[in-house]
Amino acid sequence: MTRNASPAAKAGTQRRGAEMAPVASGAVSPAFAAELAGVHDLAARIGRQIQLMEVCGTHTVSIFRSGLRSLLPPNVRLVSGPGCPVCVTAQRHIDAAIRLGTIPDTLIATYGDMVRVPGAMGSLQEQRGRGADVRVVTSARAALHLAGLFPDRHVVFLGVGFETTAPATAAVVLEARRLGIGNFTVLAAHKLVVPAMLALLAGGRVRLDGFLCPGHVSIITGADAYRPVVERFRMPCVVAGFEPLGILRALSALLRQVQAGAARLENEYSVAVSASGNQVARRLIEEVFETAAAPWRALGEIPESGLRFRPAFRSFDALERFGIVLGEDEDHAGCRCGEVICGTVLPTECRLFGSVCTPLRPLGPCMVSSEGTCSAWYKYGTPPAARAPALEAV
Ligand code: SF4
Repeated sequence: MTRNASPAAKAGTQRRGAEMAPVASGAVSPAFAAELAGVHDLAARIGRQIQLMEVCGTHTVSIFRSGLRSLLPPNVRLVSGPGCPVCVTAQRHIDAAIRLGTIPDTLIATYGDMVRVPGAMGSLQEQRGRGADVRVVTSARAALHLAGLFPDRHVVFLGVGFETTAPATAAVVLEARRLGIGNFTVLAAHKLVVPAMLALLAGGRVRLDGFLCPGHVSIITGADAYRPVVERFRMPCVVAGFEPLGILRALSALLRQVQAGAARLENEYSVAVSASGNQVARRLIEEVFETAAAPWRALGEIPESGLRFRPAFRSFDALERFGIVLGEDEDHAGCRCGEVICGTVLPTECRLFGSVCTPLRPLGPCMVSSEGTCSAWYKYGTPPAARAPALEAV
């Protein structure tokens, strides 16, 4: 503990000893301690329960891993939002991927976490056990590379994720067209963050005092993308980076707005995020995709929240190529991922958390993804005694 840490900060480190606390490790800078003291001061002045949503799964993990959650004032509650790409991918897309994997001579290429997400017919990992060729790739380009390696197979890439991964998908589709690669298609399930934030507020399911806006997505979209959230719902929005001090500064900025009764857009990650974003990446998306209604886990169908191929690129649409129609979603009974994604319950309020559902045996996507809220709570937010022993062996 540094000498500069406030009493409130010291109390914070003792409140939840199970979480990692950077102050306890002596790693906290004077700037961090001063910012933390400011957060406690602001929270005390506001004098009521404040609920802020970190939209991004990377923020969720960073907040836990740094121990920041345990240092916050008791009246500041952080809830996670629909910002983990694996978690919000609708079950119908998982089911479609599994069906595609059953077609002879197809090869499914996907980012790692997706193979373990349960669908109605099991997971892609289980499908692989039944003989499907499911391969984990670390990039869209690696998936296209597989199409070149196996010209007698058909490679289907699972295009999931937000504005951060969509440009790479668009780029490889353009490259596949340029090179005349005909055995490559994409199951297009990319999603856009801001329409989901608007839908969450419009639905009135959760009471919020502000959004901690995602850093990575904002690099592509630009900070101005959140103006509709601020203007339509008078909701404070602050873009944040991923270092604990940066997150703390963004929380301070949100609390200052709450105290003043203001609703503004602020950018605390200006080192990486501009007002208008990455124009090259945005043009790639716009060249290949157009916005369309998309199904989200828990949030249902949200207008203009997804990306589908423009007519000129429909030959790369795996669903069209193989005539597959998306079905309905049916989540595991008892799984509360939908409520977790909407910030209305904490993972520990799910009766399956840590007992029936663990990272090794996930029942819902929030426990699958390394950025999933349930996974983060299991890994960092519960004392070891409350965890299933299996995790310790990972
Ligand atoms: S703990 Fe498991 S079952 Fe419960 S909400 Fe999270 S993922 Fe679903």
